[in-house]
Amino acid sequence: MPRAGREHAGGVSGPQRVETDCAVVGGGPAGLMLALLLARRGVRVVVLEQHGDFLRDFRGDTIHPSTQQVLHEIGLLDRFLALPHTDMPQVTMRFRGRRLVLADFTRLPTARRCIAFMPQWDFLDLLADAGRELPGFDVRMRHAGTVLLRDGGRIAGVRADGPDGPVEVRARLTVLADGRDSALRADAGLEPVGRPSAIDVLWFRLPREPGEHVPLMQVGDGALLSIDRGDFFQAAHIVPRGAWRGDDASLAALRRRVAALEPRFAARIARLAAADVRVLHVRIDRLERWHRDGLLAIGDAAHAMSPAGGVGVNLAIQDAVAAANALAPGLALARPTEALLRRIQRRREAPARVTQAVQRRLETVLVRIAEPGAEVPVPLPLRVVQRLPALRHAMGRCIGMGLRPEHVDAAPAPERHLRTR
Ligand SMILES: Cc1cc2nc3c(=O)[nH]c(=O)nc-3n(C[C@H](O)[C@H](O)[C@H](O)COP(=O)(O)OP(=O)(O)OC[C@H]3O[C@@H](n4cnc5c(N)ncnc54)[C@H](O)[C@@H]3O)c2cc1C
Repeated sequence: MPRAGREHAGGVSGPQRVETDCAVVGGGPAGLMLALLLARRGVRVVVLEQHGDFLRDFRGDTIHPSTQQVLHEIGLLDRFLALPHTDMPQVTMRFRGRRLVLADFTRLPTARRCIAFMPQWDFLDLLADAGRELPGFDVRMRHAGTVLLRDGGRIAGVRADGPDGPVEVRARLTVLADGRDSALRADAGLEPVGRPSAIDVLWFRLPREPGEHVPLMQVGDGALLSIDRGDFFQAAHIVPRGAWRGDDASLAALRRRVAALEPRFAARIARLAAADVRVLHVRIDRLERWHRDGLLAIGDAAHAMSPAGGVGVNLAIQDAVAAANALAPGLALARPTEALLRRIQRRREAPARVTQAVQRRLETVLVRIAEPGAEVPVPLPLRVVQRLPALRHAMGRCIGMGLRPEHVDAAPAPERHLRTR
């Protein structure tokens, strides 16, 4: 079986050296999906993930129809559906006691017509396990990329700190899939443009009674999202930016508002400690340029999304599919040209930009809802959607499939193992 990278022992104190076709920094949805798709096409990939596992709380776990379609196209849908998940064929919310339907997926031309809620770690484990079954796929946990390697003006790989010391991964292409806080972007001279949002999201867990059903989204004095995670709800509450200070007054305000939004939670939220609350400073930004000679950024590293609409994971997956389709035919043989990398950016930038523009519009409403005591009426677009079922289906298409749905290129994998480097 060919290996994902050719290894050279380091000198007495030098780093271990690995040569591969593609080095991916970050084992999130974007990085793992890209690596999996490339490995399926005979490209050798080394993924560096700084954490020891994929366990991550309070992250995107809405797997949209577009992502399930990708899983279907690569033959992983049945394995995905065998994992614990909850299906949501419509996006509904309770707005001041009134049930509203925001989007309907039931008429989509996709393998599945619903959003599946699944903890992100299960989804990432699935991708990593499927990748490990392929020659050429090498995911290295507890490896934190620290600095980019250069060959003249070209980026030629990445150096990482691993459990056994430093590792240098030399590659024809280095992909930054290291998320919204990517530190290596600056090393590549890529700076995101954008601004912080006017809201923060407070995430916390509340115990769930067996069989208990709570609306996914509730709006009243503030907003509450409650994701069913079996024996607990993963809950989110929006507040004006900086409002959460982690003190008694912030906690009392949170308890009061959550108990008013969902009275069944009153006793449970009373037991929540400030230390159990995680704050997400929402950010919407993107790189103006996603590439350098020898380097490409995808997913949140290229465009950090607001959690509104739960599209981040799915855009990251779509980036990975587009990048793999473009890169797979040549990456096992030659370095990708900058023109090719630019084409990948062009293809994926428009969906990211438009989605971010919609998220910004949405944010003006969320900012008002986040203000304590604000009596926000049902926004006009939501009222219109209630009257026109066709619009709910159109919304379902936009949210569920995104603006430029990508399909996995079915070209056969080259017989990589017959080739020598
Ligand atoms: C609180 C919260 C809730 C969200 N809710 C949703 C939702 O419901 N639905 C949805 O679709 N999206 C949601 N999102 C967004 C979603 O999680 C992201 O858009 C998505 O995970 C982006 O995928 P990614 O692979 O680009 O980056 P990430 O998921 O951020 O993955 C980046 C990976 O890179 C690793 N890494 C970083 N630096 C290094 C380094 N130097 N070396 C090695 N590894 C490194 C990180 O450990 C991480 O595993 C949410 C985000 C947050 C923060």
